[in-house]
Amino acid sequence: MTDFRKNDFPGGSVWLVGAGPGDAELLTRKAERLIGEASVVFYDALVGADILEMAARSARLVHVGKRSGRHSKDQGTIDTLIVEAALQGEKVVRLKGGDPAIFGRATEELEACRAAGIAVRICPGVTAASAAAASLGASLTLRGLARKLTFVTAHARAGEELELDWARLADPEATLAVYMGKAAAPQVSAKLITAGLPAETPVALVENASLPAERQFHTRLDLLPLAARTALGDGPALLLIGAAMARPDGVDAVMEHVAEQSAD
Ligand code: SAH
Repeated sequence: MTDFRKNDFPGGSVWLVGAGPGDAELLTRKAERLIGEASVVFYDALVGADILEMAARSARLVHVGKRSGRHSKDQGTIDTLIVEAALQGEKVVRLKGGDPAIFGRATEELEACRAAGIAVRICPGVTAASAAAASLGASLTLRGLARKLTFVTAHARAGEELELDWARLADPEATLAVYMGKAAAPQVSAKLITAGLPAETPVALVENASLPAERQFHTRLDLLPLAARTALGDGPALLLIGAAMARPDGVDAVMEHVAEQSAD
């Protein structure tokens, strides 16, 4: 059997660790070990208490979480905190939701560490799109129908237009996983339809994937704005767009829900 306890976490080094989508069982064994060995853990808002409990009792747990609209520490401050802790000889875990290398500002933290001569490595995690597909019981790719999988973030500052290449994104042979896309759902829907994606393209919305509060909905591209507004709550949500997201039985719960709402 492989010996997992390699000496890969000396004092003064940093691991960017993927915490996965929420369910603590979706954490990798390596992530669990690194969290347990850390002397300080800087964690995001989306990391749950049951994962933080894996830290040693002596470890310092520092919340540096960011959720849109509820900013706590800016990226520069987080970079500085990580670097300073490592320079003091601490074993630093920077714990991030999902996979650290997907929309996780990992580059800034890697560069800050490297510029300070600090050893830094990444432990991957299960990204939200994988967790959402698992919950839906669906495959993100589909032979012949979805040969391509695109991860995109639809996060824009308030009032700003999203700068995305909509013509490329409107690909009927792709599955589009939109991170941070709840607020931008109306723009995503309108721009993709204008760029040529059929209005009836299937869409799945998954909120709090892998967590007890998980909710999922199926709709279609033209009804996405209404579905995002009426069906989703406060939790992190992923939009999955494309033929592979067709509901197996063809029934569309959100369409019924939306029809009820519009009848009021
Ligand atoms: N690094 C993360 C993504 C960070 S961006 C990853 O790999 O998953 C944050 C966005 O991820 C959220 O706005 C949401 O779109 C998505 N997200 C994160 N956790 C999620 C979850 N449990 N369910 C649905 N979407 C989630």
